[in-house]
Amino acid sequence: MAVNTGKILRVNLTMGEVATESVPEQIAEDFVGGRGYGIKYLYDELPPNVDPLGADNKLILLTGPLAGTSAQAVSRWMVVTKSPLTGAFARSVGGADFGAWLKFAGYEMVIIDGKSDRPVYIHITGEGCQIKDAAGLWGKETKETQEWLKQQHGNNTRVTCIGPAGERLVKYAAIVSDRRTAGRCGTGTVMGSKNLKAVAVTAQRILHLHDKEAYDRLVKEQVGIIRESKGFENHKEWGTTNTQNVTNSIGIYPVMNFRYGQQVDYDKISGGEYRRFRTGEFGCYSCPARCGKAHLVQSGPFKGAYSEGPEYESIWAFTGSIDSTSIEATIAADQLCDDLGLDTISAGSCIGFAYELYEKGILTKADTDGLELNYGDPTPMVELIKKIAMRDGIGNILAEGSRKAAATIGKGAEKYAIHVKGLELPAYEPRGSKTQGYNYVTSSIGASHCYGYSGQDVFGAIEPRPSDRFAEEENADLVIFNQDGTASRETGIVCTFSSGWGWVPALYGRMLVAARGIEKLGDSDYLNKVGERIFNLERAFNIRQGLGRKDDTLPDRMLTEPLHTREAPGEGQIVRRQEQFLDRYYELRGWTKEGVPTSQKLEELGLADVVKDISGK
Ligand code: SF4
Repeated sequence: MAVNTGKILRVNLTMGEVATESVPEQIAEDFVGGRGYGIKYLYDELPPNVDPLGADNKLILLTGPLAGTSAQAVSRWMVVTKSPLTGAFARSVGGADFGAWLKFAGYEMVIIDGKSDRPVYIHITGEGCQIKDAAGLWGKETKETQEWLKQQHGNNTRVTCIGPAGERLVKYAAIVSDRRTAGRCGTGTVMGSKNLKAVAVTAQRILHLHDKEAYDRLVKEQVGIIRESKGFENHKEWGTTNTQNVTNSIGIYPVMNFRYGQQVDYDKISGGEYRRFRTGEFGCYSCPARCGKAHLVQSGPFKGAYSEGPEYESIWAFTGSIDSTSIEATIAADQLCDDLGLDTISAGSCIGFAYELYEKGILTKADTDGLELNYGDPTPMVELIKKIAMRDGIGNILAEGSRKAAATIGKGAEKYAIHVKGLELPAYEPRGSKTQGYNYVTSSIGASHCYGYSGQDVFGAIEPRPSDRFAEEENADLVIFNQDGTASRETGIVCTFSSGWGWVPALYGRMLVAARGIEKLGDSDYLNKVGERIFNLERAFNIRQGLGRKDDTLPDRMLTEPLHTREAPGEGQIVRRQEQFLDRYYELRGWTKEGVPTSQKLEELGLADVVKDISGK
């Protein structure tokens, strides 16, 4: 049987042209799929210095080599592009069914280029692709947009789209599918800059696997492993709606713009409290965890608010950031972000930043359109979300992200902008979880917890070894282990949560062989090497954009102010040895003192072509 490397759909919105091609076998062997394909094509096709919001930037939608099959937790989708928020590589992951549907239509990748002169959407079917007028959809929220497209093209249609925030080029606009978002890095902003409202796929469930019989046997094995896993039962019951119980108890739940690591009265926002608002659950294609938990507010000022969330990051973004314990307000805020198409992490973080500026007198009522941004009061937060999405008043400044907003506001506001490379920090305090913090520092996209999640620091994971969460350069090897492992897993856009309940690299390798027909992919050591290759190519992408050691830093607050943890351990922690960490990390990675991959390392990884692009940087 022929190998199955995946097909690419190319759409040029300037020319209105569509083309298809297959991924060459060598690329499939070297990069496997998913994030590997994403960086390979973006690196090869995007010259440095392209304006992220210009017609020349490329937006690449990806699904994985196993997507749409009966295997569990392998049907998520991904976007890669150059980020308008950071100017660096962007990768963001979404869930629900879209990834499976893209695969049913016959594609693993959609490379979108150019810019339409009017609002359009792309409609993909098994028979072809059309660029269609979206004038009637422009201005609509994400839910309405998806409903309209399903009415238009039938129930066998799945959609990714942007909301009003993406249309207005809010720098952290999300791409939404169902109620799952590819939130980080402003991928929705790039989509908006192309006048692209949505991508809709209408398809029947048809798949081409290299060896279906072998594949089905492997899926049975995977299901057995998951069923026996304790981590799976816990994730199925709670999703991430109780992670704040853990992070508060160990002092790494960021409060008041990362001043404290524990929230007063955090039992009021525990998983058990959220459970009282739960009305249902939902999940991604062929995943028995169904870890999305829907919540409804039954009474009070936010009565009627309904969200298919919030999950842990959004719970934090709308409680800890502003020191509120209102579950009702988090549900309302989460709903708004999904409807309007905003990343909840960056939105919540920018709002926490604004609250601190207000406390310090750097922003006053005159600057905030009359809103009083007092800690503990969530009502102005909900108003700010609307203002950000619509770029109204103070929202227009915060819509640029905290780094640029601070530069616009001045008066010392920079000190309070909490980001790495322009991407706002997520809900794990770096001073109390240094492996996590140093992952933010060195990740290819800025401060992302998902780029190399430290299960060692947060949950006491013991693979490849336990961590001391307050140690610094001593944990450089763990940061690399987590980052390269994630990159390897994301060749299949395998859900990151499954790493806690059923991720077996050797089994993944055998599934890839049965799906693709490329024997080399069955070797899990080789797949680890692919993870390292991907990470290094992303680094080279960033180096070519002008980023380097100077950009590998946590915010000043983490380097100069002690963390306060109230009753939790970790009081007084500071990140003291960032430079020593970087020296050690770069050395272990095989990079120069400036954080540039050496020619020796690139050649070892089969990336010799890249050497000329970054030598001397
Ligand atoms: S664990 Fe949750 S996020 Fe992951 S694939 Fe399953 S339902 Fe989706």
